[in-house]
Amino acid sequence: MKKLIVVGAGLGGLALALRAASAGWSVHVVERYRTPGGKMNRLVQDGYAFDTGPSLITLPEIFTGLFDECHVDRSELRFHRLLPLTLYRFSDGCSIAYPSSLADLAQTLEKFESDKGRGFWRLISTGAKLMELSRRTFFRTTPRELPSVSEAIQMLSALRWMPIRNAWGNYANTVERNLSSQYLKRIFLRYPTYVGSSPYRCPATLLVIPYLEFALGGWYPEGGLYRIVELIVDALGAKGAVISTGTHVRRILHRNGRVCGVELECGDVLEADVVAFNGDATVAHQLLGSSQPALKRIERSMSGVVFLVGLKSRLPEDVFHHTIAFSQDYRKEFAELFDERKFPTDPTVYLNVTSKTDPSTAPPGGETLFIMANAPAIDGAKWRHLEPMLWERICRTLSRCGIEIPESHIAVRLALTPEDFEQRYAMPGGSIYGLASHSYRTAFVRPPLRDRRIGGLYYVGGSTHPGGGTPMVLISAKLVFNLMQRYEAHS
Ligand SMILES: Cc1cc2nc3c(=O)[nH]c(=O)nc-3n(C[C@H](O)[C@H](O)[C@H](O)COP(=O)(O)OP(=O)(O)OC[C@H]3O[C@@H](n4cnc5c(N)ncnc54)[C@H](O)[C@@H]3O)c2cc1C
Repeated sequence: MKKLIVVGAGLGGLALALRAASAGWSVHVVERYRTPGGKMNRLVQDGYAFDTGPSLITLPEIFTGLFDECHVDRSELRFHRLLPLTLYRFSDGCSIAYPSSLADLAQTLEKFESDKGRGFWRLISTGAKLMELSRRTFFRTTPRELPSVSEAIQMLSALRWMPIRNAWGNYANTVERNLSSQYLKRIFLRYPTYVGSSPYRCPATLLVIPYLEFALGGWYPEGGLYRIVELIVDALGAKGAVISTGTHVRRILHRNGRVCGVELECGDVLEADVVAFNGDATVAHQLLGSSQPALKRIERSMSGVVFLVGLKSRLPEDVFHHTIAFSQDYRKEFAELFDERKFPTDPTVYLNVTSKTDPSTAPPGGETLFIMANAPAIDGAKWRHLEPMLWERICRTLSRCGIEIPESHIAVRLALTPEDFEQRYAMPGGSIYGLASHSYRTAFVRPPLRDRRIGGLYYVGGSTHPGGGTPMVLISAKLVFNLMQRYEAHS
C-alpha cells in the first residue's frame, strides 16, 4: 500500500488526501495550525460563527464531484444560489443589485449602458469561450506535463473555443472599451481581485471570472463554508486517514533523488513513499534545504484585512449577504496596493453578512459580518498595530456608501491582518492566491504540480496549477492525484 504524507491541511491538501485514501492509499495529513482547513477556516465566538476565509463559492459541481468520485455521502451539504448575488454601492448614492434574471439585466443595461449592452454581452461571451477552452485544457491537465495522446486530441479540438477578439489585451483596457457606464466598469474591474490581482495589470483572459459568476452563479453552503472542510475531515477519518494538527513539518526528506519522508519540528521523522506539499509553492525550497527559490522573480497576489464583527442588532434590508462599497478612485486604490505597496487611503470594502441567508450563524436578532478590504502582501510586514487606522478607513468607505456599523451594538470584533494570515497558515506576506496573475505566464503557467528533480514529491493548492480560489484548488488536487497514479503506480 502506498504511503502518502500531505504537508498542510488546506482545502487542496485535504481533497488530495481524500482522493488517495479513497483509492486505498495510507494517508497522513500534517498541519501546523491547530485546526484543519488552512485559509478556509472558522472561528466561533459568543454565538457568532464566522468563516474566516472564503465566503463565495462558484462552480459547486466541482465540490459535489469530489464527494461523489470518492463515494462520500454529501446529503448534508446543501448549496444555496444567492439571488441577487451582490449589491454594489457607490459613494454618490447609486446602488446596483447585480441582476439575477434576464428581465432584470435588460432593465439594468438599458438604464446604464449606451448601446443596449452590446459591450456587456461581448465581454460575457468572451468569458464563456474562455471557460469552455479552460474546461477542455487547463482544468484537465497542466501545461508542464506532456499530454497523453487522447488529451492532446481533446486539447486540439478545444481550440475552436479560442476567442479571437477581446481576450488578448489588458483586462482594464478591454473593459473600458466595451462598457460605457462608470458603474458597470467598476463592477467588472473588481473581478480580478477574486484571484488577488489588479485589473490594470492582468490579461483580459480573466474575463472568465465575470462570466462564471454571471452565468453559473454564486453559492453558499448551509451552515457556512467550513461545512465542506468538516465533511472532508469526517470522510478521511472514516477511510482510515490520520490528520495531525498543531504539527509543523521542518523538512521534506529525500534520498538518491527520491522523497522518503518528512521531519517534524520536534525532530520526529515520518516515512513516506510519496509527499505532497500544500503550503505556498514559492517557499517549498526552504523545506528541501535549499537557499535557492525555484522562481527568481515573484509578484505575490494580494492579501487582505478582515474584520469579523458580531452585531447585537440587524442591519437594514439594503445591505445584502454580499455587499460591496466602492472607493471613489479605483485606479488610485490599485496604484497604492501594487506600486506604493500600502493599505489604500480609500479602500473598497466587501461585506459578507452570512446571517442574512443563514440565521444560524448569529444569536437571535444579531448579525454576523465578515468585512474585508484588499491589502498588499509584503513578506514579514507588521500590521497588527495598524488595526485602529484600518478599521477607521474601512468604516469611512462604508459610511460614504450609506452603511453604518453601529459601534454600540458590536458584541464581537476581531481583526485578521496580512501578518495574521502569514503566521497562521505560512502564507508569505499573507498572500491569498499565490502569485499574482499579471501576465499570461503567471496566470497560466503556475509552479508545477510535480517536482522534476525529486521523485515522489508533488505540490497541491492555490499557489500551483490551475490557480487560487476554492474550485481551482479542488481541480489542483484532482490533477495531482492523476499524476500520482501515473507516476507512482510502478515506483
Ligand atoms: C480572507 C480570504 C478570503 C477568501 N475568499 C475566497 C472566496 O470568496 N472564494 C474562493 O473560492 N476562495 C477564497 N479565498 C481563497 C481560498 O481560501 C484559497 O484559495 C484556498 O482555501 C487555498 O487552499 P490551499 O489548498 O491552497 O491551502 P491553504 O489554505 O493555503 O492551506 C495550506 C496549509 O498548509 C499548512 N502548512 C504550510 N506549511 C506547512 C508546514 N511546513 N508544516 C505543516 N503545515 C504547513 C498551512 O498552515 C495551511 O493550513 C479566500 C481566502 C482568504 C484568506
